[in-house]
Amino acid sequence: MSGPFLDLTDLHAGYGAARVLQGVSLAVRRGDVCAILGPNGAGKTTLLRALSGMVRTTGAIRLDGADIAGRSPEAIARRGVAHVPEGRGTFGPLTVEENLRLGAFTRRDRRAVNADLERVYGFFPALRDKRREPAGGLSGGQQQMLAIGRALMLRPRLLLLDEPSLGLSPLVTQELFRLIATINEQERITVLVVEQNAHLALEISSHAHVLETGRIVVSGTAAEVRRDEQVVRSYLGYRV
Ligand code: ATP
Repeated sequence: MSGPFLDLTDLHAGYGAARVLQGVSLAVRRGDVCAILGPNGAGKTTLLRALSGMVRTTGAIRLDGADIAGRSPEAIARRGVAHVPEGRGTFGPLTVEENLRLGAFTRRDRRAVNADLERVYGFFPALRDKRREPAGGLSGGQQQMLAIGRALMLRPRLLLLDEPSLGLSPLVTQELFRLIATINEQERITVLVVEQNAHLALEISSHAHVLETGRIVVSGTAAEVRRDEQVVRSYLGYRV
């Protein structure tokens, strides 16, 4: 199918009377990494929740040409959207491998699931070493890798990443972003990443959008957004 892989038109979403997204329109090309930047409270997390069916929305959400607005989170996951939430959402008492297998909950092809476990361990060898250990004992970076690995077990076509760098050291964050870029290239998974660290996010992204109080205020290629005066002033003032 030609046209954007993900296409949002006039998306609104909120919590009860609190209106958070106020008419977001954006498109993401198949196979791209797209960054969503913006200050705390802008609605970045809510945007990802809207895409994975976790909040009520109005407006259109088209994935590969199909309208997924209003579908249940499970139906959206079955269509190949994997959401790695802020704070990872891994299960501490379960082993690393049990957490990974949970990611394949929509699948019945056991042999392929086992092959995909190996694929995930290929990206994240540290997880293979700790496969039988409780996830709760992993370092912050390994927990984030586990959360991304679990999302990959869904065989997603679209990966939604919410603040992957949160709480991680600059070095670990850099390694993680390199891995995200590798996964995007090797698996041809379209990635939408919400990130406070604009430098790193722009490094691996082809396009970026800045969200402020529920509206997109800057959009463009990563190079264009990196040059935008407002972005430089508000988001690129520091470097890791
Ligand atoms: P942050 O970087 O702080 O996570 P964000 O850009 O991701 O910010 P959101 O988490 O989407 O922003 O929050 C947008 C607004 O929605 C905020 O005002 C927040 O207080 C509110 N909000 C978020 N989650 C809920 C919820 N479950 N119930 C009610 N209000 C919420």
